[in-house]
Amino acid sequence: MATGLLLVSHSAALARATAELVRQMTGDRLALAIAAGAGPDHAELGTDPLAILAACEELAGCEGIVVLMDLGSAVLSAEMARDLADDALRARLHLAPAPFVEGALAAGVAAAAGQAADRVAAEALAGLAPKQDALGTQEHAAPPPPAATLTRAVTLADPNGLHLRPAARCVEAAARFDATLRLRHNGRVAPLDSPTALMALGAKGGTEVTIEASGPEAEPAAAALAAILAERPAEPHAETPSKASSGGFVPMSPGRAAGPVVAVGRARPAVPETTVADRAAALARLDEALAAARAALAGNPILAAQAALLADPALIGPARAAIEADGRHEAAAWRDAIAAAAASHEALDDPYLRARARDLREAGDAVLRELLGGFGLDLPAKPAIIAVDELTAAEAASLPPTILGVLDRRGGPTSHAAILLRAAGIPALGGVALDPPPSRAAFDGATGEFVAEPDAATEARFRAADLLAPGPASVILPGGEALEFWANVAGPADAAAAARAGAFGVGLARTEMLFLGRADMPGEDEQEARVGAMIAPFRGRPVVVRLLDAGADKPVPFLALASEENPALGVRGVRALLRRPDFCAAHLRALLRAGAGHDLRIMVPMVTFAAELRAIRDLLAAAARDVGCSPPPLGAMIEVPAAALTVPDLLAASDFFSIGTNDLTQYVLAADRGHKDLPGFADAGHPAVIGLCARVCRDAGAVPVSVCGEAAGDPSTARLLVEAGIRKLSMGAARLSALRAAFSASAS
Ligand code: PEP
Ligand code: MG
Repeated sequence: MATGLLLVSHSAALARATAELVRQMTGDRLALAIAAGAGPDHAELGTDPLAILAACEELAGCEGIVVLMDLGSAVLSAEMARDLADDALRARLHLAPAPFVEGALAAGVAAAAGQAADRVAAEALAGLAPKQDALGTQEHAAPPPPAATLTRAVTLADPNGLHLRPAARCVEAAARFDATLRLRHNGRVAPLDSPTALMALGAKGGTEVTIEASGPEAEPAAAALAAILAERPAEPHAETPSKASSGGFVPMSPGRAAGPVVAVGRARPAVPETTVADRAAALARLDEALAAARAALAGNPILAAQAALLADPALIGPARAAIEADGRHEAAAWRDAIAAAAASHEALDDPYLRARARDLREAGDAVLRELLGGFGLDLPAKPAIIAVDELTAAEAASLPPTILGVLDRRGGPTSHAAILLRAAGIPALGGVALDPPPSRAAFDGATGEFVAEPDAATEARFRAADLLAPGPASVILPGGEALEFWANVAGPADAAAAARAGAFGVGLARTEMLFLGRADMPGEDEQEARVGAMIAPFRGRPVVVRLLDAGADKPVPFLALASEENPALGVRGVRALLRRPDFCAAHLRALLRAGAGHDLRIMVPMVTFAAELRAIRDLLAAAARDVGCSPPPLGAMIEVPAAALTVPDLLAASDFFSIGTNDLTQYVLAADRGHKDLPGFADAGHPAVIGLCARVCRDAGAVPVSVCGEAAGDPSTARLLVEAGIRKLSMGAARLSALRAAFSASAS
């Protein structure tokens, strides 16, 4: 047959009825297929790219296929199906922007008459003509949009276009409003509940997109979205090294590395291709894995955007449908849904957006890991540069300090893995496809300079220019007092970087980061091993380890905290620990064991009352008896305004204080610390916060006070903190040298 007709609809009933109408005109002379509905028996409203692709195969005998779609995401699904089709099929597909029912009738008649696909598509487009002829002069021929509908054009400020992070933020913001929201770009439309659909618009930086909103909160919803889309990224991508080097390697993370190269692989478990007997159980397993992966990713600010993908109906829908309709194993259904979505991204023109396919695959792997286990990087035990194929962000976040550098076969400078490598100070190059890799290498992650099999002198040259070269751990202020620079660490790589950069000590070891998203409670031995690995580079220097700070934006499922309306004001930090005394006792024992041989101090998060500190002190005394050591100094974090205002009450129970300006600021300014629409409120330099810090210093007297919130690493806020009396600043390794430079300049 010359041309076939494919009807794509959210509703199976609508598609069937339309097909029946068409058949009344054409009889069996028309090749007609439908792809409509979602869920078992296609009884739910929705569309599925894979079902559309399958329906196209039904029309494989046709020279051309004209596709008619009903609403918004039907168009998107059809486009995805077209992207997934092989070249031969794609060339025969004509997606017609025609009215669904009228277009189907007109197209059906033309196709049954043997017309070619472009003619049939043109007929479909003209399908409204009879109705327009009849009503065309009357004013309701083109009805005005509903009163609540509004459109708002915005120019995308992010030079990298509508990539995952802004897309995820838009979806998150849209969910807060009672409004129906869509984004239009170049004639394509995406619903605001799907980050993948938004990214698939392929909207580049500097181009215009149109927000379409209707419903009671259309106005504020459109304003919120416009603000996100018009916002320049906080971390300018210009900061990232972006040019390919002369050798074709892509600088990913600055710094120099030299040493042996070890190619590392991953144990990827086989995905079962069997069908499942109990489909409901398979769906439940998928839901659980999605929730666990979301929780694990959400704990890391850089991976949080990937977590948003795992709530995307455009991914979950097809996977669920494959389980419900075909009994596919949940891992196979999920793998295929991710592959389909990643393939449609890879078909985009824009290289930056194309690279976001990687986010999809990484988020997808996080779920497969939950379902199947495995996937671990097979890392060398001895110090080495690793050669790897697509380091994931999660892997980058947990590299041990023995990794000298990373050579990634595909990695690029804007990947989340690169951001985390930069944060940890691990040099990296992307686009390094050397088969086999050299046995030794020396490279510069900023310039892309790369030497295979370097001689000893070359290796020495590369080692000498270490980006995190040690500097002084303190400077003398004009008044003669020392200002100390400490480090915040969340894992072994951070700690190694901080040690290399010459931090005074660890001012904050975030233990919860080692266990985020874990559903199974880590045993005492595991805790000891992981905390021990984190603080190992600081043997001989002071190390402040914070007790597990669970809750609010740091989910730790194994503590089984109840979900709360307002978790930032709920059971978190020490409040959660005191509700789990058994865990807390084991945790303290593990910290004491891990800290043996270290100058260990233990810090309690989210203290409000002296009684909380006393309760932890009792547990610490018991743990020290069990372990056979003396209890180390115990200090309170000052994050709650009440604690800042009652330091004299806390003095008897606290050997030191550390001000957590991140939380203190959110509670003083009454604005969620991560609130997208209130960035100006996350200002620790606000006089109210600085005033509280000054008061803490005054009331603490001789008891040491440090600051371990982000403000400590920001030179201008740090100055205010120093004026307030702070003499110990603790920050991420990457910020140490800038801080040091800022204060050295003023000290000299
Ligand atoms: C803080 O609140 O400033 C702090 C250091 O703790 P976290 O950021 O881990 O909540
Ligand atoms: Mg805090």
